Amino acid sequence: MELSNINELKGILSAEGFSFKKSLGQNFLMDDTVCPKMAESAADCDTGVIEIGPGAGVLTRELAKRAKRVVAIELDERLKNILEKTIGEFDNVKLIFSDVLKVDLHSLIKEEFSDCKSVNICANLPYYITSPIIMSLLQSRLNIGSITVMVQKEAADRLCADVGSRDAGAVTVAVNYYSKTEILFKVPRESFLPSPNVDSAVIKLNILPSPPINVADEKKFFAFVKACFAQRRKTLINTVSNTLDISKDSLKSALDQLNIPQTVRAEQLTMEDLSKLSNILFI
Ligand code: SAM
Repeated sequence: MELSNINELKGILSAEGFSFKKSLGQNFLMDDTVCPKMAESAADCDTGVIEIGPGAGVLTRELAKRAKRVVAIELDERLKNILEKTIGEFDNVKLIFSDVLKVDLHSLIKEEFSDCKSVNICANLPYYITSPIIMSLLQSRLNIGSITVMVQKEAADRLCADVGSRDAGAVTVAVNYYSKTEILFKVPRESFLPSPNVDSAVIKLNILPSPPINVADEKKFFAFVKACFAQRRKTLINTVSNTLDISKDSLKSALDQLNIPQTVRAEQLTMEDLSKLSNILFI
């Protein structure tokens, strides 16, 4: 079976009368180089892998060939018969039909992967919920080693930007709090059926054993970071005082204590600057 062959993929989908749902981010991969490379980054014979959104199973097959066990979570039950055909030959794959955001992944990892040395996540993510899925995976502090995911190229640039650079946003800070990020490779839009109107990239988030900065109150820190980047081109003093209940004087004094100019914008601050500022403001 060669699912990256467009005719074979189309044949399997049309035999089941399958039609793509844009609302579920259904763009299936049909490039025979991409899935093996993604699978290499996430799986080896001692590893358990959770796949989000297997679609017709093209990436699932590559993961199944390399991993000890694969659990694939798919929202669209119309793909049941198709997946039974495409991955039925592998006895190390389990399918769960559910919204990934509603699955208790802590319990799933304990129940399904107790004999695996490590667990990783691998997915060609539905673009409509890329950030919520990534943030939910990171914030729930799962016992995982890495997350290898395909996302829109613009999302990859934002997620993997250096904090302190123009491309950084609140999500960049959040992702860097939990992981070390890297862009693995780019994937052109023609690699998908149907072809989306943007290019993509595969990124890898290597989970850190502990955060790289010292934050006194995580909830307040993330609310502060969100406020800092709410109006990216304005000064930090203006955007934060407009968004949170913090006076300009308190912000000026916090910046002075750290020798940061009062004209600074959020995109010029490092992780360390942001954590120190939030610790001064909220303790
Ligand atoms: N992995 C396949 C591939 O690479 O060809 C399909 C990727 S497609 C971009 C995204 C898949 O995620 C679709 O199969 C879609 O039905 C599924 N999906 C969308 N929302 C989901 C959710 N909340 N939970 C689980 N799967 C979801």
